[in-house]
Amino acid sequence: MLNGKSHRSSSLGFSTRAIWSGQEACPATGATIVPVYQTATFTLPEIGVTKGFDYSRTVNPTRSALERQLAELEGGTFASTFASGMAAVAGATSLLSCGDHIIAARDIYGGTHRLFTTVLSRYGIEVTFVDTSDVHETWAAARPNTRLLWLETPSNPLLRLCDIETLARLRPAGVLIVADNTFASPFFQQPLALGADIVVHSTTKYIGGHSDVIGGAVISNDREIAEQVAFHQNCVGAVPGPWDAYLTMRGAKTLGLRMRAHAKNAQAIAESLAEREDVAEVYYPGLATHPQHELAKRQMSGFGGIVSFRPKGGAERARAIATSTSVFALAVSLGGVESLICSPARMTHVSLTPQQRADLDITDDLLRLSVGIEEVEDLVADLNCALDAVPELARLRTAS
Ligand SMILES: *Cc1c(COP(=O)(O)O)cnc(C)c1O
Repeated sequence: MLNGKSHRSSSLGFSTRAIWSGQEACPATGATIVPVYQTATFTLPEIGVTKGFDYSRTVNPTRSALERQLAELEGGTFASTFASGMAAVAGATSLLSCGDHIIAARDIYGGTHRLFTTVLSRYGIEVTFVDTSDVHETWAAARPNTRLLWLETPSNPLLRLCDIETLARLRPAGVLIVADNTFASPFFQQPLALGADIVVHSTTKYIGGHSDVIGGAVISNDREIAEQVAFHQNCVGAVPGPWDAYLTMRGAKTLGLRMRAHAKNAQAIAESLAEREDVAEVYYPGLATHPQHELAKRQMSGFGGIVSFRPKGGAERARAIATSTSVFALAVSLGGVESLICSPARMTHVSLTPQQRADLDITDDLLRLSVGIEEVEDLVADLNCALDAVPELARLRTAS
């Protein structure tokens, strides 16, 4: 079902909306917090008459509350939520038909890449991968049947950016722009305001924020788009259950607080890694040395919580570091309050071919951190300890 704006005005500040949008007291009981409506069906007063709800695949009050909250956090009017980020990605691609063409960022999320190349291709939808940081290259790939441009900024795991506003301004007629805003979160980046038509989220990450629930969302300002996505949501039925909707909504209330803390910790860690002689490269849009730092300052209101780096000493040293931390847990996923470390080449991007990984610079010596909101001194010390415990071979050799 389609949910329009709630009475909580989008002129309110971010955290005020996060806490109150869609969160009206229960009309039946006055419950201040939206209840978990754990019901599949709703009793009707009469045949053909509902109180707005009939069956929970189609519409559920807990899910509706989450959808209104998320729409307002993105500065959007309509949101549909899904059982996972991938179900949301599939929801957005339900706007396509056989014969349509997608232009997509080369370094999009692996699951999205897989959906485009192995599922949509069988339905006669073609995709061209480009470097979306190059506006000219991006639109040079446009064809008469191009229907979607699929963006992810910052990208995973190398934190490359693309300029949403310029891409939107120069778009050919008839092309919709989708931005997967999972990495920045609506607190740091508002793609709809920059000219994107649709925002997609894996709410599993920052929006849920506690690594305890899988979910996704599609948000837009266009009624026709929203109706088609909501139709797909009901038709396919990959909806979040009421508990998942509740957990996501509860997490989203503290998104602003958490994002500030993630970014502060990530900045400190990026700076601390950049100072070490045994670290070859650090990737974080908040570093002045990041090649797109100026674009990041313009397009984002903060630089997020993901930091990637290449320790000197190659793949073997990186592997040893990844298993030597004691606060950072060795795990995939990101965006939770707890800090995680992973080896993209061996974990998140293992389904790519070695050639695809090489083309994207995702080599075996790369490590990605999802910086949590623990005490920053503990996080910096943990990484320093792990790096010290696994000295570079070259240095060892010169020392001995
Ligand atoms: C995790 C992720 C997804 C997929 O979300 P799931 O909730 O795991 O299905 C999509 N896009 C990005 C950028 C992600 O990080």
